[in-house]
Amino acid sequence: MIKAVVGANWGDEGKGKITDMLARKADIIVRFQGGANAGHTIVNNYGKFALHTLPSGVFYNHTTSVIGNGVALNIPVLKKEVDDITSKGVPMPKILISDRAQMVMPYHILFDQYEEERLAGRSFGSTKSGIAPFYSDKYAKIGFQVNELFQKETLKEKLKNVCEVKNVLLEHLYHKPLLDPQALFEELMEWKEMVAPFVCDVSAYLWKALKEGKEILLEGQLGSMKDPDHGIYPMVTSSSTLAGYGAVGAGVPPYEIRQIITVTKAYSSAVGAGAFVSEIFGDEAEELRRRGGDGGEYGATTGRPRRVGWYDCVASHYGCRLQGTTDVAFTVLDVLGYLDEIPVCVAYDIDGKITTDFPTTGLLEKAKPVYEKLPGWKCEIRGIKKYEDLPENCRKYIEFIEERIGFPITMISNGPGRDDIIYREK
Ligand code: GDP
Repeated sequence: MIKAVVGANWGDEGKGKITDMLARKADIIVRFQGGANAGHTIVNNYGKFALHTLPSGVFYNHTTSVIGNGVALNIPVLKKEVDDITSKGVPMPKILISDRAQMVMPYHILFDQYEEERLAGRSFGSTKSGIAPFYSDKYAKIGFQVNELFQKETLKEKLKNVCEVKNVLLEHLYHKPLLDPQALFEELMEWKEMVAPFVCDVSAYLWKALKEGKEILLEGQLGSMKDPDHGIYPMVTSSSTLAGYGAVGAGVPPYEIRQIITVTKAYSSAVGAGAFVSEIFGDEAEELRRRGGDGGEYGATTGRPRRVGWYDCVASHYGCRLQGTTDVAFTVLDVLGYLDEIPVCVAYDIDGKITTDFPTTGLLEKAKPVYEKLPGWKCEIRGIKKYEDLPENCRKYIEFIEERIGFPITMISNGPGRDDIIYREK
């Protein structure tokens, strides 16, 4: 059976920790979308790691880590991540890469930078990892699948054609140096050596694994708000962040995804631009940012300070609904122990109309948060293992949010470590 771990919000909800924790009992962990533009932070016995491309299961000996066809595969980043974890004492993980995964080409990263430069102040807050140019090319059908590395002559021909198109833009729109197809070809041959041992037909492998009764975890990147269809378009990412897309991006039957664990953080945070209704500013924000996550709310990939705010029930209900949530994992709750009272955004005020429905982007820009304040619990909750042992106000906070979002909170994370988790019956 398949379980998916996905985000309800803007990303950075703590999916890495939840996946790492669930991976203990899983056989296979699959990345099915996104690329090296966001990261997971994982704290375990080997140390603290920021993973961008590798699935969060790489720290276990018993799991196989799979890069699905839906991923934007940056091969040098993957190589660096493998070298990094193995140099820190982690045994070489079992890795499989879909022969249909497409590669982030060196020029995708350049085009991302050039476009941000061109847009200047009007930019989308890209992480400049080449993700948007990559997916544009994928759907324009001029992308490169991993299997093409093994067909030298056709690869050379295709590179020539693609460079011809790219060079027009480089010369006339961006005024930048042109691409050389031969140099690109040589670089790709180096990439081929790096990935050759891992490439296989991933969907066939997963199909067989399902028949054998193996447990598969799909690991999502970012969250519902960043989905290109259902998120805060255009301030979204370029591949679907929804569990449903797991079927496509991993090549598995949709009906096999039996459990959808949607991760949501006990307060809000976001990186990059875009409407963020319950955002807070000034000293109040600085304090939450500094205390947040594990060592502050700063991006795992970019180091950028994250925007922070109070919990948003409107966005989270919508985010959980779009994911098809069966279970909610409520994370980073320990961080809120310093507050006397905690505002929770329960509705939006849009031009004087109060709503709990998450609107489209134009209206979202106008939305003002409607807050209810809940009393804080004013103590450290790390180390607590049983739900009943949480302070009463803390339980009230969880139950209040559970009711507003309308999906059962069955896991509560009260610290960054694997064992900092409280399970709760539905
Ligand atoms: P992801 O992209 O959804 O995996 O999230 P990130 O890894 O970017 O952000 C989550 C951050 O919070 C990481 O630094 C985690 O180590 C940390 N974290 C996860 N769960 C908890 C928790 O329950 N409490 C605390 N204090 N930190 C947590």
